[in-house]
Amino acid sequence: MDNDRKQHHNARMQRKKAVVDAAIERAQDTRGIVILITGNGKGKTTSAFGTLYRALGHGQHPGIVQFIKGTQPTGEVTFLQQCAAGADLPYHAMATGFTWNTQDWDADKRAADEAWSNAAQMLCDPSIDLVLLDELTYMLKYNYLDTEEVVRTIRARPPMQTVIVTGRAARPELVDLADTVSEIADHKHAFKAGVKAQAGIDF
Ligand code: ATP
Ligand code: MG
Repeated sequence: MDNDRKQHHNARMQRKKAVVDAAIERAQDTRGIVILITGNGKGKTTSAFGTLYRALGHGQHPGIVQFIKGTQPTGEVTFLQQCAAGADLPYHAMATGFTWNTQDWDADKRAADEAWSNAAQMLCDPSIDLVLLDELTYMLKYNYLDTEEVVRTIRARPPMQTVIVTGRAARPELVDLADTVSEIADHKHAFKAGVKAQAGIDF
């Protein structure tokens, strides 16, 4: 790179640094937030668990509710249960009773209500730093849970508690509620090219 271009590059980086420094200076609040990871692309649940592992690394106490029927245990949950064996890690999965396949509304509703009552307990416990509500969006989309009640309960949580919600088709009320919203786009997925779901990558 010649000297002129180097100087131009340095000046540009200096301007960029000033903008970034000013933004860092402006962000002074410390509080729990709501993170929504939505969209049709792969990476919502794995992103949420990445953040949860990050919190664990700082000695924080997360809780997890999974709002789907798991057909097989996923690597992220198995690993967590192995690591946290003996530790107090509140976890509830809507594993039994949820019957997408048989379309039994009453059984689904009972399972959704039970999962939500576990979530609601975590959402009023200030000793839980991070509440992961995996696939919650579908409970609202299909009206298994009341959107207004869910939003109200999340809003009323302890001020330092962070909530992560994942799932496609998030209702606008959830988008409004969230402080951070990431929408993962589905540009390509190996499954559509005939690659079978693989342990360690897809579950
Ligand atoms: P992951 O758990 O891998 O982060 P996700 O939470 O974004 O994925 P879900 O809709 O919960 O996605 O579906 C989970 C499963 O479906 C995973 O096995 C994932 O690989 C697969 N999957 C996710 N997105 C797509 C897609 N766009 N096309 C096909 N399969 C997908
Ligand atoms: Mg998911």
